[in-house]
This record gives sequence, C-alpha cells and structure tokens, in this order.
Amino acid sequence: MTIPLEWRRSHLSREITSSLSGSRVVVLGMVLSVRRQGGLCFIILQDGCGIIQITAHKDKTPSQIFDKLVELMPHSYIGVKGVVKAIEKAPRGVEVEVEDLYVFSEPKKLPPFEMFAKTLPSLDKRLEIRAVDLRRPQSQAIFKLKHQVLQSIRSFLVERNFIEINTPKIIGSATEGGAALFPLLYYDKEAFLAQSPQLYKEQLSSVFERVFEIGPVFRAEKFKTPRHLSEITSVDVEVAFADYGDVMNLLEEMIDYVIGNLMDKCSEELQLLEVKLEKTKTPFKRITYDEAYNVLKDLGVEVSWGEDFSTLALKRLGRINRGFYFITDWPTISKPFYIKPKDDNSEISESFDLMYGSLELSSGGSRVSSRDLLVKRLKQQGLNPKLFDYHLRIYDYGMPPHAGFGLGLERLMMVIIGASNIREVTLFPRDQSRLTP
Ligand code: ATP
Ligand code: MG
Repeated sequence: MTIPLEWRRSHLSREITSSLSGSRVVVLGMVLSVRRQGGLCFIILQDGCGIIQITAHKDKTPSQIFDKLVELMPHSYIGVKGVVKAIEKAPRGVEVEVEDLYVFSEPKKLPPFEMFAKTLPSLDKRLEIRAVDLRRPQSQAIFKLKHQVLQSIRSFLVERNFIEINTPKIIGSATEGGAALFPLLYYDKEAFLAQSPQLYKEQLSSVFERVFEIGPVFRAEKFKTPRHLSEITSVDVEVAFADYGDVMNLLEEMIDYVIGNLMDKCSEELQLLEVKLEKTKTPFKRITYDEAYNVLKDLGVEVSWGEDFSTLALKRLGRINRGFYFITDWPTISKPFYIKPKDDNSEISESFDLMYGSLELSSGGSRVSSRDLLVKRLKQQGLNPKLFDYHLRIYDYGMPPHAGFGLGLERLMMVIIGASNIREVTLFPRDQSRLTP
C-alpha cells in the first residue's frame, strides 16, 4: 500500500503543543484507547515518541467519521487530520479536533492485557507477543530509558577520546576457557559465539589506546536465575597506560553521568515507571575481597577463600552494602588468565567487581601486558597457550600496560528501574527455555 500524499504526517505527537493552537495538523499512530462520553469521543493516539488526545464532537464531526471513530478498537493504526486546541484537561494540555480520518489497519484480535492495565499477565505470556506488549507506554518507557543509557555511555566515552570498535562475534576458540560457549558450524569447521570481546579489545588498546564496544555477548552456562541470560549486551572498555584504579574511577564517573542524564532527560519515562532516581554518590565505596570474606565469615556464611562468592554470600553482602560499591583485589585464582597479579603479592590480583547491593554489574582489572607472564597464567589456569597463538603473537611486538572492564547493560538497567527480572529490560530475551520470538 502506498501512503496517500495527504496522509503523510505533519507533526509528531510531541511536537504538538498549545503554541500550535488553531493550526491544522496530520497525526499518525496507534489507538491506545477510545472513550465515548455523550456526544464526545476521545481517542488517545500513540506514535513513536508519545501520545496525543484526539477529540470528536458529534455535532461538528461528519457523522460517518464520528461513527467510525467510536467503533475503533485499540491497536488500530490511523491517521487524523484536525485542528490543534489547547485544553487544560487533556493529557499534555492539548488535543486535536478531528476533521478527517484514515484507517491504515485494524486488529483481528486484542491482546490479553489493556494498554494502561495495572495488573498484567505473566512476563512469559507477554513475551510471546513482545512487540505487542511493547505498545504499552510503560513497557516502552523501559527501552526508551535503555536507549538514553546507551546514548549517554557513548557520549561520555567519546568526549573522553574513546573510539568505538566492533569485534567478531564468531570466533575460533574460547576467550577465557572453561566457561561454556555456544558452538556453531562455520562452513566445515567448529566455531563459537563470542562470550566477550576481551582479547580483541586488549589488542586494540595497543593501537587506539582508548576503545569501547557495545555489543552482544553469549553465555552458554545453564543458569536459571532472574539475573542471567544466554545473550546480553556488554559495554566493554579498555584503556592503555591505565591500571585498575584508573578504570574504577572511569566506571563510577560513567555511571554517575548516565544516571544524571536520565534524571535530566527522561522525567516522563521515569514517572511512568514510578522510578525515583537519586543522584549517585561518588566515589563508590571500595572494599577488598579479603574484607568481604572476613565480614561473611563473621556472619557465619560459608565462604572458601579463592572462590567467587555464592548467591547467598552476595545477598548478605548486599544487605550491608546498599547501592553501588566495588569489591577489589580478588584472589588471582578466581579471575581469568588475563587479569594481572599484584607485583608484591601474586596471590592477589589487580581486579574489581562493581556491585549494586547483591547484584554484580561489572568485572574489570589491570591486564597482564607481559607475554611471558600471560603464557604462565594460561598454563596455571590449565589452558593451552597454543590455542591463544593468534593473541600471544601480538604481544611479541610489545604491549602497553592496560586495564578495562565489561559492564552488563541489562544488569545496569535492572538497577535503574528496580526490575527484579532481567527479562523485563531485554527486548527479546534468550535463555535455556526461550529461543523465540
Ligand atoms: P555472574 O557471576 O553474575 O554470572 P560473571 O562474573 O560470570 O557474572 P563477567 O564475565 O564478569 O560475568 O561479565 C561481565 C558482566 O557482564 C557481569 O558483571 C554482568 O553484568 C554481565 N553478565 C555476565 N554474564 C551474564 C549473564 N549470563 N546474564 C546477564 N548478565 C551477565
Ligand atoms: Mg564477573
């Protein structure tokens, strides 16, 4: 269907303000609700950037148009030609009084939830028709916030001379070994989906010095938790001539910037989601792994030095440490081979996790920049250096000291909107039991 010339949009909903009073406009969008009140019909029309009230008066609107409007179902996609009026009672203080109507499409059925409903079917049910669930202004708001978070991260990093990179997602061998990877058939060979851009971003930090990548990473661990998915968006940052202290400072500054930007730019979405953001307090608290370990021991929580903290241990830590904080100086054995051990104590590494309560948001650290040490660390972790030849050969040519982090975008979104399930903040989540839509 070609769109008739007279049914091209003249204004987006957001652009219609009382300053346009008396002007004739063409608005396009989807019907969120239809309400008849005596001789009046009110329609809330939603387009890509918001809503506008459409009003028809029985005694002023041509009768075939009025009758059609009254019958419209939510989820109809329509065009309305009309005159802008400032009306205090209307949402956003403005409405369009209908003169003409064009119906692009009408639904064959309605979803099992209303567009403004407070109680909803389970997330699983809604995910079955995710793109329809996203027509709800509340559901949409989450992803408009996510968009703003991405924009803010990019502008924060670009202002600081970072270069955005894109690295392969189809790879020949494991980055970190151990962790489960998704295998795939690459022509006649076995390949894998990348679990992280780690080694590529490290290599590129020797060239561009400050690099970042925002892209998908794939984890094949058989998790069944509200905070794990098989495919996530990772914000990866790597900086040459920096150590873990420098990138912790950078990360907390970035979080502070992102949250400040949301408060400035997204008040409508935050209000819709009933989220009250508070300005972050930087610097974030820093506790060492040993300090956390001792606190847990005192609380009688079972912890074994050198291992990651269990979910229970993290819960207890989260009760004591609210908000953002870093756990630093992890046992070397608990971290991947590319994390640098301390010069004065090789049992401990220059590493950190950024936490929010009990939720891990990011892991990072200083990286090993010596080829010999990297080979030694690979062997210590039971990995075969031969498989990493493509990486090690770059180190033959010299490597600057460097440090970086990987931040889970969805985990950060969970914190921002207070979601308890990562699937809420993922358009099309992938987990062990979900491969569609
Ligand atoms: P966790 O211990 O929570 O499983 P991790 O330590 O295995 O995470 P990293 O390899 O450190 O994860 O990845 C960096 C960041 O990416 C994590 O801090 C987290 O925010 C995010 N992340 C990693 N794996 C997942 C996943 N399966 N689902 C959601 N987010 C993840
Ligand atoms: Mg981690």
